[in-house]
Amino acid sequence: MPDIILSNVQKSYGGSGPKAVSDLNLHIGDGEFMCLLGPSGCGKTTTLRMIAGLEHLTGGDIRIGEEVIDSPAQGKFVGPEKRGMGLVFQSYALWPHLTIERNTDFGLRLRKVPRAEREERVAKVMKALDIEKYRDRYPSQLSGGQQQRVALARMLAVNPQVLLLDEPLSNLDARLRLEMRAELKRIHAEFHTTIVFVTHDQWEAMTLATSIGVMNEGTLQQLGKPHDIYDRPANRFVAEFVGSPPINIIEMGGGHALDRAAQDWLRPRLGDAGQVGSVGLRPEALMLASSEGAVPQGSFAHMAEVTGILPTGGSWIIELKVEGRVIFLTTTACPTLTGGETVWLYARPTALHVFDKDGQRMGA
Ligand code: ATP
Repeated sequence: MPDIILSNVQKSYGGSGPKAVSDLNLHIGDGEFMCLLGPSGCGKTTTLRMIAGLEHLTGGDIRIGEEVIDSPAQGKFVGPEKRGMGLVFQSYALWPHLTIERNTDFGLRLRKVPRAEREERVAKVMKALDIEKYRDRYPSQLSGGQQQRVALARMLAVNPQVLLLDEPLSNLDARLRLEMRAELKRIHAEFHTTIVFVTHDQWEAMTLATSIGVMNEGTLQQLGKPHDIYDRPANRFVAEFVGSPPINIIEMGGGHALDRAAQDWLRPRLGDAGQVGSVGLRPEALMLASSEGAVPQGSFAHMAEVTGILPTGGSWIIELKVEGRVIFLTTTACPTLTGGETVWLYARPTALHVFDKDGQRMGA
């Protein structure tokens, strides 16, 4: 399958409201598992629907390799049925009057695939998704998660070159979600299908994707591998959207003790320290020392009061206060703290995410 390339894609639904998608550039490589991640209303579903051919662009173009499949300027539009893509939405309508086997077989019959080939493909996907045992049941006799697996099987049976999934796991409980994620990873490895997956769940994106496109208000904020998105967020939006508990942000230019400390720390280290707008510190990158002398050389450090210890099962969130401002730290080491202590909070130099006044990342 050639790559799918979105160039300067625009979409407005008419009216004077903001564009649902603007200036979107996205290169989806063959065999990639790309997650579009972002808050509600950021344009993820619209993007997926444009790739599928269910929405027309209002600007820019989409190509599959060299072939333009949608370009208002060129007056070109290739219909959804000719794009070789399979879609699974949050609500996966199975045919209630057909057995699971017939449901799985549905797309193949529609395409008039010869019987022997149909049987072979249905058997293969039913095995891959572990739904053989339900073959003679009807959808109403299956749980939501089992039905979702059937919907995926039905899609995979027709062997789409691209699988477009819009929050397909959203109806499942936590455990099933996890199982289905593992399933999707296996499917991706086994069928080498290009997958574009829409989610607002950062963990889902982090665990599944080979690359993540973070969107906000119709624009792409960052495109990168999961660890890049987490470790090197391109801007404040990405830094704050990804991570739980969220990244601690120190706003510069205020008179708070932490701001002053951050400014003093950055000045000798950063040529254009005057441009810094904020500094981010991930909760797990923060550490505690009992005294200033115990803080490793070169660290960014400040005194803080321990105001809360929250066990989360296997790890702990520690709430600290510096002159009334709350900072969260996470640790997997059982804390010996009880609350009320004065400690030194510190972070290694590489743990500081520095953003300029427009919220864009500065430095490495
Ligand atoms: P969610 O996670 O809530 O599904 P999303 O990121 O998928 O959100 P979209 O559904 O793509 O977001 O919507 C993007 C923007 O376009 C929103 O502001 C939405 O209100 C608007 N929008 C979506 N579909 C239509 C439509 N058919 N007509 C008018 N506006 C629409």
